[in-house]
Amino acid sequence: MASGGQKADVTVGVLALQGAFSEHVQLLRQAAQILDSKDAVKRHWAFLEVRTPAELASCDALIIPGGESTTMSLVAQRSQMLEPLRDFVKVLRKPTWGTCAGLILLAESANRTKQGGQELIGGLDVRVNRNHFGRQIESFQANLDLPFLKQADGKDFDTTQQPFRAIFIRAPIVEKLLPRVAGPQEGEAKVEGTVVAPSRPIDEQVAKSVKLGDVEVMGILPGRSAALKDDATKEKLDAEAGDIIAVRQANVFGTSFHPELTGDPRIHVWWLEQVRQWTEGAVHP
Ligand code: GLN
Repeated sequence: MASGGQKADVTVGVLALQGAFSEHVQLLRQAAQILDSKDAVKRHWAFLEVRTPAELASCDALIIPGGESTTMSLVAQRSQMLEPLRDFVKVLRKPTWGTCAGLILLAESANRTKQGGQELIGGLDVRVNRNHFGRQIESFQANLDLPFLKQADGKDFDTTQQPFRAIFIRAPIVEKLLPRVAGPQEGEAKVEGTVVAPSRPIDEQVAKSVKLGDVEVMGILPGRSAALKDDATKEKLDAEAGDIIAVRQANVFGTSFHPELTGDPRIHVWWLEQVRQWTEGAVHP
């Protein structure tokens, strides 16, 4: 909770229905300290595990953790959270970050999903391919170069200049950027094995300050070519540009990997700064 019993300036929730939520809360606390040490104005942050519609209603921003998206959507449905989550992300357009299973839930369209077995929240006009790299034993770590960490309004959140060590566990990738449409992604509904999120019109009042642009690619996992030493083969494979593993569209941010499992707070620091600016009305990308 906010320190000293004061009312929080910004309340950030972590959806705690299933998956790696407590790790996110820990890293958020660490990130808030780092952010406060950089800014002259201290803020009172509150971090909250969210399980009920009332808890969600008290949040200014939300993280949806990794775990199992099918289970998470089922539990959300049973605990009457699915519709409030859709309102939070798509009608009220509050800042929301999904990691791994969270990214799947925030996609407007998801592949490799049993019809009726998976409900999506939506918010990001993308199609994700679930379990893109295979099963649990095919999990891996990779060094990522994430340019957004170095470009945050002149603030450098990446003082280490080290690549970000990312953990991929049965991770999805963004396999297609979709056109932004006012209603549901109807074209996607016709794709075999794909489910789509129901549409939700943005709140009229919110629409005055939030511009819903197209999806921005924020991170790429280099293709095999980047890892090769042999230049001749490398050239042949250079067309393979890599997989999209981080995206943003207006208030919604999604990553395929699990920054909360590495103990590296850099992305949490960056995202909290985005949340701060968003809630203070300074930027709406
Ligand atoms: N493959 C999982 C799913 O479909 C996501 C895995 C994860 O969050 N680590 O939900």
